[in-house]
This record gives sequence, C-alpha cells and structure tokens, in this order.
Amino acid sequence: MTTQEFQALSPATLAGRLGQIDAVRTRLGDPQEWRMREVGDGNLNLVFIVDGPGGSVVVKQALPYVRLVGESWPLPLKRAFFEYNALTRQNRRDPGSVPEIYYFDEGQAIIAMEFLSPHVILRKSLMAGTRHAGLGGFLGRFCARTLFRGSDLSLPTAERKADLALFAGNVELCDITENLVFSDPYFAAELNRHTPQLDPIVTALRADTDLKIAAQHLKMTFANNAETLLHGDLHTGSVMVTGDEARVIDPEFATYGPMGFDIGMLIANFLMAYCAQPGHAEAPGARAEYQEWILSVVDEIWTSFTAEFTRLWRSERTGILYQASLFEDQGHGLASEQARIERLAAIWRDCLGFCGIEIHRRTLGLAHIAEYDEIADDAARAACEARGLMLGRTLAVARAQFTGMEEVLDLARRTN
Ligand code: ADP
Ligand code: MG
Ligand code: MG
Ligand code: MG
Repeated sequence: MTTQEFQALSPATLAGRLGQIDAVRTRLGDPQEWRMREVGDGNLNLVFIVDGPGGSVVVKQALPYVRLVGESWPLPLKRAFFEYNALTRQNRRDPGSVPEIYYFDEGQAIIAMEFLSPHVILRKSLMAGTRHAGLGGFLGRFCARTLFRGSDLSLPTAERKADLALFAGNVELCDITENLVFSDPYFAAELNRHTPQLDPIVTALRADTDLKIAAQHLKMTFANNAETLLHGDLHTGSVMVTGDEARVIDPEFATYGPMGFDIGMLIANFLMAYCAQPGHAEAPGARAEYQEWILSVVDEIWTSFTAEFTRLWRSERTGILYQASLFEDQGHGLASEQARIERLAAIWRDCLGFCGIEIHRRTLGLAHIAEYDEIADDAARAACEARGLMLGRTLAVARAQFTGMEEVLDLARRTN
C-alpha cells in the first residue's frame, strides 16, 4: 500500500485493504466477517472500530485536510507518522500508558491499534459526574515519565538530538498550536467563536496588554524551549478511562517543547470541567462534591508529577544535564536537590501560564470543549465560561506568584 496514492478508508473498503495484514488479521479473524463503524469524534481524523470473530481493533487514518473544517484546510498526512512515533516512545517511557500499536502504514497514514474497552473518553465522564480511582496519579506519573525520559536529563545526547530533528518536522500541527492557542483568542481571528454574553469580557481580555504579553512569552517558550518530547494535545479528550484505569491517546501534535506544556493543558481541561459543572447539575448545587473531586484530581496530578519527577531525578539522571559526577559524586547531593527544586519551580510557572492560555482558547478560539458547548442555555453557559476566563487570566498573568496548588484551587473556588 505504501507506494500507492493515498485513499481514505471507508467501511466498504477497510476489510479489502487491511484483511491481508497479518498483525491485524490475527487479532480479528476472517476479514469476510469484519464489521466496521466510524467513531471519530475528534477534529482531525478518521477512526474506525473493527470487530471480527477473534476480537476488535481500532484503525485511525489521517486525512489530507482538517476533518472539522474540510478540504479547504489542508493538513499533511505525516501527522500519522508523528503520532506513531510518539506512541512508541510513550509506551517505552511509561509502559502500558497508551494503546498497543499493531500496524503502521506511513503512506496511507494508517495506525491499527488496541481497541480500548470498556474505556470512555474522560471528558464525557467528567460531564456525567463519574469518579475514577487513581486518575490523578496515573496522569501525573505519565507526564513525569514521558517528559523526564524524553529530555536531556535522561536520553543519550545523540538520541535526543535525532528525536529533536525528527519531531521538528511536525511543522503544520505546531503551527496550529502556535496560532490557535497563543494568538487567536486575543484578537478577532476569523475562526474564533464565543458565547455572545461574553462580549464585555472578551473586549476586556483583548484590551489587556499584560495578558497579551504573557501569552506571547508563553508562545516563545513553547516554540523555543525544546526541552522534551511533548504529547502536544493532552486534554481530557485524549484520555480514555474505566472506573480505575486510564490510557492516553492521540499524540499527533507531538513536538519538542517545554515540560510545563502538557501538564498545564491537562490541568486547564480539569479546571474547565470544574467551571462547567453547574451547567450539568441535576439540581442546583448537586455537583458541589463532584467539583471538589475534580480539584482533588488536579492536586493529585501535580503531587504525583513532582513525586515521580523527583524519583527519576534521583535514580535516572543519565543524560547530559546535572550529572551525578558533578553533584552527588562530589559530595554535593544537596546542591542537586536544590537544582531539582529550581527546575520544578520553573515547570510550575510555565504550567500555570499554559493552563490559563488553554482555558482562553477553548472558550474563545476555534476548538471548544463539550462541557461548555453542551450547556444549551446561552446565559448559563456564559456564566460557567466567564468564570474560567477570569481564572485563566490570573493564572497566565500572575503565574509567578502562586506558591502551591492549594492557592490555585482556592482561586478556582473563589473566582466568579
Ligand atoms: P482525533 O485525532 O481526530 O482527535 P482521536 O485519536 O482522538 O482522533 O480519536 C477519536 C475518537 O476515537 C476518540 O475520542 C475515541 O472515542 C475513539 N478512539 C480513538 N482511539 C481509540 C482506541 N484506541 N480505543 C477506543 N476508542 C478509540
Ligand atoms: Mg483527539
Ligand atoms: Mg485520585
Ligand atoms: Mg488528534
């Protein structure tokens, strides 16, 4: 297939095209009996669940354009190549955290992978008010392991430089992040939309030059600080969960960037889910306890991130930075701890900044979140969204003033 012209898969052609691929066929059984359904609910790609007599497989295919917008917005197929390469690295750095990959066809931009079941998309679960045991711990460890082990703290320098070069090719998806996340929310960009009742706040935010400068500082950090391999799109729609298990999917935006980016985006999506709860409450106030559970997950993400980062710092510092030969081996173990604390403080500041900007772009930009969009009443939705916007503004502009997560969570509780 790789040498043939690209062809989008369809339920009618899928068995004919993948039926002879051993890695897929052995998991599904006789292709004549395969049943396909297209389930893609994302913005960019085709996703099929294929059921056969022997089991099920997910088949994801990139299209040469943005699915949400159509052929008028071309987007290269090579994003599947970056997704495949990111998944293999994430699986190595945090085994079992992502779906197992069965097959990859670069030319056709097809990835066949483990069907996660009975997993559901975390974002939907947060709307429904469902709790998940161990979620914050899983997500914090995933971030610590993938971010630490993809960086100069861990990798052999030749390997990191090769990966830096490889993922530098993901230009078009980085360009989406650079524009849609860091710039579009702060002016009347063509693709933006927002709830009409937010007009006065939107006008104020776009006139807020401190905020615009903060957003551009963060954009510079994202574009220039190639610290580690990021997932690049780590929101709650890229996490699938059961009652007590979680997996991360969809790293097609993978790029080298700052450690705080993935965690900041992730936390932003929990804070928006928190703000949206009144719009999904069965009765006024019925989601108050659930809101506190969401905040406890945010707390757990940061706590487990720092704990795992610390463990890796003390046991796996095998890269070119802060070598033990300079510190522990010279009797300067305390200085190593001081350096670690300084690194974590820098990640923390970036994380809060990215968190604030992510909240803004999911409320004012092109790609919104279901937690807000599914609140039918404009005024009720605007009330939830306004709270998030104000919270995001403070996090982005005053990020250096927060000394711990409890302050952030209190701010979320107090912001109206
Ligand atoms: P996109 O890049 O278009 O956002 P995603 O990778 O996020 O595509 O997949 C879209 C949807 O397909 C997910 O929201 C999820 O419902 C489903 N999906 C994707 N991968 C899997 C998987 N491995 N197992 C089960 N469902 C999946
Ligand atoms: Mg997705
Ligand atoms: Mg927990
Ligand atoms: Mg995607």
